[in-house]
Amino acid sequence: MSRTHFNIAFATVALATLACLAVAAQQPGGGGGQNFDNVEIHLQKAQGNVYMLVGAGGNVTVQVGDEGVALVDTQYAPLSNKILAAIRTLSPGPLRYIINTHSHPDHVGGNENLKKAGATIAGGNVTLDIQDAAQGAQIISHINAYKHMSARVNGQPATPTAAWPTSTFIGDGKKLYFNGEGIQIIHQPAAHTDGDSIVFFRKSDVISAGDVFVTTGYPFIDLNTGGNIQGIVAGLNKIVDLCIPVYGQEGGTMVIPGHGRLSDVGDVINYREMVTIVRDRVQDMVKKNMTLEQVKAAKPTRDYDPLYNTPGAFITGDAFVEAVYRSLKK
Ligand SMILES: [Zn+2]
Repeated sequence: MSRTHFNIAFATVALATLACLAVAAQQPGGGGGQNFDNVEIHLQKAQGNVYMLVGAGGNVTVQVGDEGVALVDTQYAPLSNKILAAIRTLSPGPLRYIINTHSHPDHVGGNENLKKAGATIAGGNVTLDIQDAAQGAQIISHINAYKHMSARVNGQPATPTAAWPTSTFIGDGKKLYFNGEGIQIIHQPAAHTDGDSIVFFRKSDVISAGDVFVTTGYPFIDLNTGGNIQGIVAGLNKIVDLCIPVYGQEGGTMVIPGHGRLSDVGDVINYREMVTIVRDRVQDMVKKNMTLEQVKAAKPTRDYDPLYNTPGAFITGDAFVEAVYRSLKK
């Protein structure tokens, strides 16, 4: 994490706060019901052909080149026009691919709008209006993310039909070659959910991590959607494994977290250490047959709380401990 990155990230956070952004909207899986009118979309270059868009909800990753635009995640539907306007400052090209890291609404809410925008080639008489589109971008996800989006809740699909992935994969992942760059979509089993993907832009040397890695607090392990602490640890190990640092310096492979600021491998290593140590502490207590109440009372996150259990944190130390405990009891 270089000072420049920190300053840009800090400025972004400060602006977002000025824009009266609901804190919940920035959290993994959070949001819904808030007013998006004042949300500003901030664009930051990650590296190579890859950029990060910060607004409300999960970060959006944008890859641009001669063939058009590929996105990872889409935030919330009311932000789609602003997101599209930000993308158009980078490229007038067609929006060809949308990759979803998982099924949560703060990451897939803009799917339908941005898919429709897929056929729009800006320039000439074509406005930025997403209604101009005739046909859409391809939406790619792991099959489990598709299942969660299409699942019925109270007789209604969890996500509108038009927002569902149009291309799913099973197994370890999927590979694309777009804009002169290999894009590796890597399934991370049972981590934040059971349908997580990490997206590696190999030439730009940027990883879009989804909610397996966030810088905003403790990880959210969505047990009801198949998440598990062991998969979070495995996912962080996978990201570290893919990263190549610059010897003796910061930089090298850049990592766009699901929520929070642009990071490098050092940031992921620190986060992995915290997650692994808390996991191991809870594991020891589970082996001693301690109850959840006893484990919580022992405060296994105590030394990390000043950093991660911040005011307004989406996942408190207690909530993280409970999710770890329930993961390990499975
Ligand atoms: Zn999420």
